[in-house]
Amino acid sequence: MLQTASIAPAPIPFLIGGEPVRGEAVFQSVNPATGQVNYEVSVASSADVDRCVAVAQEAARAPKWRNMKPHERARILYAIAEGMMARADVLAQIQMRENGKVMAECRAQVASASSTFRYYAAVCETLGAEVTPSRGDYLSMTLHQPYGVVAAITPWNSPLTMEAQKVAPALAAGNAVIVKPSEVTPTAALEVADIALAAGLPPGILNVLTGTGRDTGLPLVRHPGVRMISFTGGTETGRTIGRIAAERLVPVALELGGKSPNILFADADLEAAVAGVVTGIFEGSGQSCIAGSRLFVQRAVLDEVVGRLKARTQALRVGQPDVAGMSMGPLSSFGHRERVEGFVADARAAGGEILAGGARPEDPALDAGAFYMPTLVAGLTSAARVCREEIFGPVLCILPFDDEDDLVAQANDTAYGLACGIWTADYKRALRVARAIDAGTVWVNTYKQLSISTPFGGFKDSGIGREKGIGGMRLYQQAKSIYLGLDATA
Ligand code: NDP
Repeated sequence: MLQTASIAPAPIPFLIGGEPVRGEAVFQSVNPATGQVNYEVSVASSADVDRCVAVAQEAARAPKWRNMKPHERARILYAIAEGMMARADVLAQIQMRENGKVMAECRAQVASASSTFRYYAAVCETLGAEVTPSRGDYLSMTLHQPYGVVAAITPWNSPLTMEAQKVAPALAAGNAVIVKPSEVTPTAALEVADIALAAGLPPGILNVLTGTGRDTGLPLVRHPGVRMISFTGGTETGRTIGRIAAERLVPVALELGGKSPNILFADADLEAAVAGVVTGIFEGSGQSCIAGSRLFVQRAVLDEVVGRLKARTQALRVGQPDVAGMSMGPLSSFGHRERVEGFVADARAAGGEILAGGARPEDPALDAGAFYMPTLVAGLTSAARVCREEIFGPVLCILPFDDEDDLVAQANDTAYGLACGIWTADYKRALRVARAIDAGTVWVNTYKQLSISTPFGGFKDSGIGREKGIGGMRLYQQAKSIYLGLDATA
């Protein structure tokens, strides 16, 4: 077994070719619920990136991996899925102590990540090549081949699921992968890589480089040996990576930020809708790309909805993430809490009314952690900064609307287009509005349902490409067309 976070050595090494490697520099992983240092973690330098890419290239070309049949790759992916469930407690603990998510959510995310490996095992051994209609004396077919080395760069909010979403299809597709996790959540990927080695994945096929975006991420995406880049994170970082990929002419998938509208029509089941709105924004302390952070309420029910919303928001329990029954843990870092506080200060200065929260918790037992109360902001328009920019925290902006046209114009008045919720009893209207909103995912009378079998991604500044689903494996393959001549006289 590697020296992963489950046995807490110092400093934790990164992983190249199945071997632990300690970098010259280190950074600290801090538990946001307590302010305590979890451990020191090695920074992979650009020289380490060079070495890692060379090792991954060699592993990708080696007959053992290149010639492995899809059903044999699938067997390894199934074993990884099982290995993750066997180490579910360890994985959930790692995520909880690094980003502060409540334990119930961490456990659910282990199960989800494990099932992602299972899903792509099944896709890998069933999805075929195509024989295409021929227009002459030949047999034409299209095969789908791996790129070689894929870089997977991930954010801190849900490392287990985000990493599985990239690693499982990229491996199923036959690539070697280098994961660069966020410096906030560096070690879940190491634990999964250890599980993968134990499951029979050849060394060098899954590597993990810990470090910062500047020291490790940037040299990785610039490296000529990296033939495809899959990134999830903020829109500005995505733009930087997109520019590099364009310059290098390598394909890139970008899953970026959001400012998703959750729309409540007057005819909705208000109790169910308000419960969905509260979960949609405050689960994970609002640190979710698909958080429904702009609530549009039809004016006729505005007062009633605000009353119900305040009651539900104030009933949420904010506390230590390992205590059962907590709705929200801390924010993922102290720096991120300051950023969220800056947005709320900005909302106040702009004349916004803080209907709930807007402060750190009063409980002195939570003083040492990066906690922040669930916050409702009203009285502003879509022009306000707090209603336009992604906060990525527990802050919901409430905006009234009058009719469908007004609603669609307001909801689409954003640079983003990741997700949308619609609450109404009228399914014709639901479908009309769902078609009109710029978003990669629309939920009707539900929110934040996700399925590995359903494509996911963003419109506009929320990204390029779609992960998940059967096409999620094709993202990591390039098509090759072959013509076999059948003309007996040639
Ligand atoms: P960042 O964009 O800051 O970072 C994402 C990853 O990129 C991290 O691993 C980071 O490293 C790395 N990175 C930073 N700069 C560079 C660079 N120049 N070159 C290469 N790699 C780099 O996002 P956050 O981690 O702060 O995550 C929050 C963001 O992620 C939010 O905007 C959120 O909406 C988005 N997100 C989108 C999702 C989606 O599916 N659409 C899902 C989840 C989150 P380091 O951490 O070390 O700086």
